[in-house]
Amino acid sequence: MKIKEYYANPLVKLNEATHEYYWTATNEIIQGPSITKLIEVVYPFNVKDIPIKALKAGIEKGICVHNRLSEYIKNNNEGTCDHKYNGWPIQTHTREYLWIKENLSNVLPKEIYSEVSLSNGRYNGTFDLLYLDQNDKWHLVDFKTTARLNKQKEILQLKFYEDLITTAFEDIDEIHYYEIYNSKNQEHYNFDEFMHKQAIFEKEKIMKESEFSYLFEE
Ligand SMILES: [Zn+2]
Repeated sequence: MKIKEYYANPLVKLNEATHEYYWTATNEIIQGPSITKLIEVVYPFNVKDIPIKALKAGIEKGICVHNRLSEYIKNNNEGTCDHKYNGWPIQTHTREYLWIKENLSNVLPKEIYSEVSLSNGRYNGTFDLLYLDQNDKWHLVDFKTTARLNKQKEILQLKFYEDLITTAFEDIDEIHYYEIYNSKNQEHYNFDEFMHKQAIFEKEKIMKESEFSYLFEE
């Protein structure tokens, strides 16, 4: 299937409330971990390292910024933020949304796809953005809204998305560029050769030597 066809009629969707992926044809829930879960083998998420209030605020901002970007890219709709703190609007939400939006305006894609959920029947994931540039190169993009940087974890995540993407779509053989837009730090970056190699090494480890190895057996 071509990505354009899938985008119009996705086979898989994510239920935002339950964080479960399901087949749109049958509403059947897809078992198996998300890519976010897979990479926790190498990069455990230590929830207790973060105060609960800060954690909740961070999640709320992430969802708000991601949803507005998706709405803008999909429907050219500006959207609004109604989040408040002590009765006052939280300006960082809109500021961070606008920073990414403005940086993306430099991109003049031939094709662009926002927030697409995919599954190979074994594991699942939703990427933030994928676009084809004027030179027919594919860019896989992730939006980050937290100051805590872990570039090595980010590229690992993107490598797993690449597998789902190239498996699902006959018109995408490989990803040419992996990029992060971090709105909190106002940074747009990619990854050096060492990080790519390290990510491939870590991915192999998850596939061959982890509790999830069974997902990758033939
Ligand atoms: Zn908001």
